[in-house]
Amino acid sequence: MIPFCKPSITELELNYAKKAVTGRICGDGPFTETATRLFFDKTGMSNVLMVSSCTHALELAALLCGLEPEDEVIIPSFTFSSTANAFILRGAKPVFCEIDPRTMNIDTNRIEELITEKTKAICPIDYAGVCCDIDSVNYIAERYNLKVVLDSAQSLGSKYKGRPAGFDSDYACFSFHETKNYTCGEGGAIFIKSNEEMKSAEIIREKGTDRSSFYRGEIDKYTWQNFGSSYLPSDILMAVLTAQLERFDEIKSKRISIWEKYFDGLGELEVKGLLKRPYIPEYSEHNAHIFYIFLNTATERNDLLNYLREKGIGAVFHYIPLHSSPYGKSYGYKSEDLPLTEEYSARLLRLPIFPDLTDDEIGYIIESVHQYFGDSK
Ligand SMILES: *Cc1c(COP(=O)(O)O)cnc(C)c1O
Repeated sequence: MIPFCKPSITELELNYAKKAVTGRICGDGPFTETATRLFFDKTGMSNVLMVSSCTHALELAALLCGLEPEDEVIIPSFTFSSTANAFILRGAKPVFCEIDPRTMNIDTNRIEELITEKTKAICPIDYAGVCCDIDSVNYIAERYNLKVVLDSAQSLGSKYKGRPAGFDSDYACFSFHETKNYTCGEGGAIFIKSNEEMKSAEIIREKGTDRSSFYRGEIDKYTWQNFGSSYLPSDILMAVLTAQLERFDEIKSKRISIWEKYFDGLGELEVKGLLKRPYIPEYSEHNAHIFYIFLNTATERNDLLNYLREKGIGAVFHYIPLHSSPYGKSYGYKSEDLPLTEEYSARLLRLPIFPDLTDDEIGYIIESVHQYFGDSK
């Protein structure tokens, strides 16, 4: 069986993990510092805090937005539950926006019609590591005085108009979950544009205390300063992440090479009108987080999925759109409210992509897709 995803773990990750376990294992230890510095080296983003997950990064961002009950936040329906939960936990209401089916990212032409006097924030995602059109989102946000929280869970290493993903939003939330390009099992990072809010975030992340300033030697004792939670990761996880970030370019180039092999290998089938390959807008330089294809119908997607699984290929699909999921419906949505999201999510299929996928395996997967269409190479 070729799995759908498999983290690339080497001696480096094992050595650092071992070092961490026998050292200081709580949060904000030496490996958290190196991981944060490497993150800066790779992205140029300095106001970054390592956190326990992207889910927690989004929750932290939602707290910083100062949301109140009944406030509204505009998010795409084609995303993971965490994007919505972060705001719902603050009592806010998710308002689902349609996607641009070329990228599956938020359709920036459809945001403005959803804005009411209760709207406080927009939270787009960078699907498949392909940046959403953040300049257009920011343009709208500025006119209506809204915060922009970017769910950049999938886009570490991607660029928008040459700038690192997340750089242009008020907050950007990254993930180091097992399924993401760089992983420590569970983990995340948050970028915060405002220096002032960065200080508040440090306090929220550390149970509402100023322990972060204390660690830096800026104060001689730490106390309860504000509301907060515990969003910092153990240094054991940050040891694994340090190794992953040291291998940043290696992991990225391996993924890109696999992505390109799929893209080239399936080109003929697109020419024949049997499937569609991903579209990368000119402004986006992607990180090969996901390789997906669109089939012509949902039935065909499901058939191909079963066909590949029978051949031992761990192909998958996602997401059941939030607006048509059981909890989304409790907000009054019906499946037909967002027809493009509904249609394209049902036609989407993801192929395995991870750094250690071999050329033979990639060849076998491409050949199997051809065979499904009765088009053996
Ligand atoms: C993975 C993912 C998340 C959740 O990340 P965790 O680190 O597992 O909390 C949130 N949003 C999107 C778009 C994701 O892909």
